[in-house]
Amino acid sequence: MKLSNQAAIWQGKCPCCREGNIFSYPLTNITRFYEMNEKCTVCSSTYVPEPGFYFGALFISYGFTVAFFVGVSMLLYFTIHPATWVYLTAILGTSIIFIPFSFRYSRILFLYWFGGIAYRGK
Ligand SMILES: [Zn+2]
Repeated sequence: MKLSNQAAIWQGKCPCCREGNIFSYPLTNITRFYEMNEKCTVCSSTYVPEPGFYFGALFISYGFTVAFFVGVSMLLYFTIHPATWVYLTAILGTSIIFIPFSFRYSRILFLYWFGGIAYRGK
């Protein structure tokens, strides 16, 4: 089955063949969500182009965190307009709950944008 680029990103598939999984375990595995495969299990493309490659992914992760911060703040402000401690608790809670999402998708996007791996199909 041929995936579109967006579908492959969303499902965490290899940028080269769009079939192999970038991460070893599903996003919902709370204890091992961060474990990546070193190479694609289908086409053998490397997911670590150089040492320290994923350092740059923290800037994308920072963007996600700011988006969560602004989104939760606006939602609370325009619905129940609570006390300050509720904002802080909600923002902190949201940030913690979305750590697996933020971690994985920042790495996936960084690999797609800066990994230098072009789609080659099968
Ligand atoms: Zn692959």
